[in-house]
Amino acid sequence: MSGTGPDLEISRAWLVDPAAGLEGPGEIVVIDGILETVTWLDGDEADSIDADGVVIAPGFIDLHTHLREPGNEDAETVASGLAAAAHGGFTTVCAMPNTTPALDEPGVLAGVRVAADACGSPVELLALGAVTLGRAGEQLAALGELADAGVIGFSDDGSPVRSASILRSALAYAGALGLPVVDHPEETSLTDGAEANDGFVSTVLGLRGWPAAAEELAVGRDIAILADVLRDVPGARLHLTHVSTAAALEVVRRAKAAGLPVTCDVTPHHLALTDEWIAGARRWAWDASGDPWADGAITAGPYDPALRVNPPLRAPDDAAACLAALLDGTADAIATDHAPHTEVDKAVEFGQAANGISGLETALGVVLAAVDAGQLPLLRAIEALTTGPAGLLGARSRRDGSVGLVEGAAADLVVFDRSESWTVTADKLATRGKNTPLLGRELPGRVLVTFANGRIAYEAPDA
Ligand SMILES: [Zn+2]
Repeated sequence: MSGTGPDLEISRAWLVDPAAGLEGPGEIVVIDGILETVTWLDGDEADSIDADGVVIAPGFIDLHTHLREPGNEDAETVASGLAAAAHGGFTTVCAMPNTTPALDEPGVLAGVRVAADACGSPVELLALGAVTLGRAGEQLAALGELADAGVIGFSDDGSPVRSASILRSALAYAGALGLPVVDHPEETSLTDGAEANDGFVSTVLGLRGWPAAAEELAVGRDIAILADVLRDVPGARLHLTHVSTAAALEVVRRAKAAGLPVTCDVTPHHLALTDEWIAGARRWAWDASGDPWADGAITAGPYDPALRVNPPLRAPDDAAACLAALLDGTADAIATDHAPHTEVDKAVEFGQAANGISGLETALGVVLAAVDAGQLPLLRAIEALTTGPAGLLGARSRRDGSVGLVEGAAADLVVFDRSESWTVTADKLATRGKNTPLLGRELPGRVLVTFANGRIAYEAPDA
């Protein structure tokens, strides 16, 4: 080694470069942290290299990550969250502002950045600012100051922006600043006290129903306000996060077809898990019927609080709609909604449990399960984890323009092996939030190494 950065040479791998729209056999050489060469192989050299072995892709970008610092470091710190990201193949995460205090002024962001610098992780930490002061929904935060401090957008996530009039102002101010409003679409007058997706499973289990209409109405409201704001502020942009229902995705599809600047993401758990899991089924969404009792699918106990999430796990048709939205581009990205919680906040009755699933480290495996089942092409899956979210961040990420396997750039990539699976256990997770319904589950695709910004962010212990 002549320089200071790490070296890596991988021959005979399957390269996925969504920026170029390419995948195929190839090899890479990293010297001193720089991706020096990317070689695509063909003919004899490419013999017997397929997508079922070692895969190299650009580092993933998560648009929706909850770190719990400041305020709830027992659930997650900046350091543990960034370690979880690297373990999951993510090299950029966007932290949501629902910390305590909320990230509603530049001082909170400064503190988060100090924590990120102190932990030394090369994973890029971006942050959203709150839409309203304290996320209380009453008074707009100082969006301009937050923009100057470097936030990448505004969200009251955890909650929707409840007031239509405040959302209107936020879209206008944020749009003038060139930033999106990221809304958590939920009409809360329909979900007050709700516990699980309103449907057959919630009825049988006696859980209070959470209607799909609550999301569809909110998405429709948000888009109507966006269309109105655009007349005065052409730069206004709306991003809808963790859209989970067929009906709401259809509203987004129509708005996009009409040319409105609206984007959305779906989560791994909403595309692969269903409300059947709350009954005790553990089959993937594409194998689900919606009536797990009828076909002997129950293999675990009911009411696992790890399955309580907002929005709730939905019916199989909704999960299928999330996949279809990814396939046709209605959904621009897969975002984890990584929501770590302490055991104390989860080890309670289902309806009392904190909402959220710890998702950074299982996202790849869940998405690969969909790929393995023929539900999603590998290239599209990787796009939704890389170029999709990158397109929404643009120049606000240090990776602007280099999300891809770009020779001469600082290595920012993930290497994973699809011939290996791994079993999710609490001690294998870097996150402090062990709250995932996938504990004990075998997932495909083990991450071997993650490079972020030319440095090794994660390396498997035995790689
Ligand atoms: Zn949310």
